[in-house]
Amino acid sequence: MRHIASSHLSITCICGHTGLVAVSDLITKHGADLHIDTVELNAVCRRCKTKGTFERFQIIFVGQSHLAMKGSDTNKENDQLEGSLEQN
Ligand SMILES: [Zn+2]
Repeated sequence: MRHIASSHLSITCICGHTGLVAVSDLITKHGADLHIDTVELNAVCRRCKTKGTFERFQIIFVGQSHLAMKGSDTNKENDQLEGSLEQN
C-alpha cells in the first residue's frame, strides 16, 4: 500500500456510516505490505460495529492536507475546530 500512502480510504457501511481512514496510519500500524483487500475484510464500522460488510470502498487522494486528516473519524475533533473558531 506504500504507493497510496498519502491517500485516504473512504469506507461506506451498509448502515450508511462513512469512515475515512488515512492509509499512512494503516501502514504505521500494520506495515507497508498490508493488502487493501485485507483492510476491506477487517475494517469495522464505528457506528454499527459490523465487520467487512461495506457498500462502498474507495481510495481518495488528499495529498498533504491536514484538514482532511482531521475530518477522518470522531466528532471530538470537529468540536475542537468549532471551539477555536468561536475564540476568533
Ligand atoms: Zn455500520
